[in-house]
Amino acid sequence: MPVGTLGTVKGMLPETLEQVGAQIILANTYHLYLRPGHDLVREIGGLHRFMNWDRPILTDSGGFQVFSLGDLRKITEEGVHFQSHLDGSRHFLTPELSIDIQQALGADILMAFDECIPYPSSKAYVADSSDMSARWAQRSKQAHDREDGSALFGIVQGGMFPDLREKSAADLLEIGFDGYALGGLSVGEGAEVMYEVMDYTLPLLPDDQPRYVMGVGTPENLVEGVGRGVDMFDCVMPTRNARNGLLFTTFGKIGIKQARYLRDDGPIDPECSCYVCSNYCRAYLRHLYRSNEVLASVLNTHHNLHYYLNLMQEMRTAIEAGRFSDFRGEFYRKRQ
Ligand SMILES: [Zn+2]
Repeated sequence: MPVGTLGTVKGMLPETLEQVGAQIILANTYHLYLRPGHDLVREIGGLHRFMNWDRPILTDSGGFQVFSLGDLRKITEEGVHFQSHLDGSRHFLTPELSIDIQQALGADILMAFDECIPYPSSKAYVADSSDMSARWAQRSKQAHDREDGSALFGIVQGGMFPDLREKSAADLLEIGFDGYALGGLSVGEGAEVMYEVMDYTLPLLPDDQPRYVMGVGTPENLVEGVGRGVDMFDCVMPTRNARNGLLFTTFGKIGIKQARYLRDDGPIDPECSCYVCSNYCRAYLRHLYRSNEVLASVLNTHHNLHYYLNLMQEMRTAIEAGRFSDFRGEFYRKRQ
């Protein structure tokens, strides 16, 4: 899922998003709640109409952003008190309010409200927090009105502790959700620890329902996740990196501002079939980037999203053909 934090995937027209193969995008509850406000979005007909996107939208619960506020927030059993990063105004986010905001936005997939546990944290803290998130998940489910046909996903917590992940997964399965996410990953634990958590947590979740790893990741993380049974990801990496001139290719990452691309008349990625690689050379993209042209962000984002979404498409095709491990081997061989 490309990330459209403020109701736009930065630099991309909705029709261009469809062209690069986006089936669903993610929007951020916290940001849209503060500005322009969920009531305004509801009044105008929901986020699909507001941003002119008619494919599915998944909204996060707002928890991740609120917990990132550090000293500006205080957690209680009832919910989280926080101050806006925009104007310092005071707010109180509860599971019920989070679901109400997500429903006002008109999300197709809503996420249960949870605490994103900092890393590292003590086992006692992780245990208490995960139990509270399970109670919040129950309240999220009760607040969710299913009449609009939307889905609600639960989020497995438990930090980097196998027994706590197991308990969190069991708690959520007992409540029952339409899909299950792994939260609290990509928080500085390193790829190997993240893969270990996937290894012991994913088999606990139903394989006939979507399994979603939140906030991940690099192309390698996606390949490793899919190999372990992950169906969905979201990450700002392709879009944010694009705006910083960092481009993903079949052969690894490139920094387009480097002098070595001054006279390079080849495409970003010779194996990429996107609009940018079909029409523009590295020398031009380097020039645009160094000149701070708006088009640099537009073209770089287009390519990076095409790269990511094409990677997912290639993995789907390989799985259907029963040759995922060949695909994985080829993926790494080309990156060396
Ligand atoms: Zn391309």
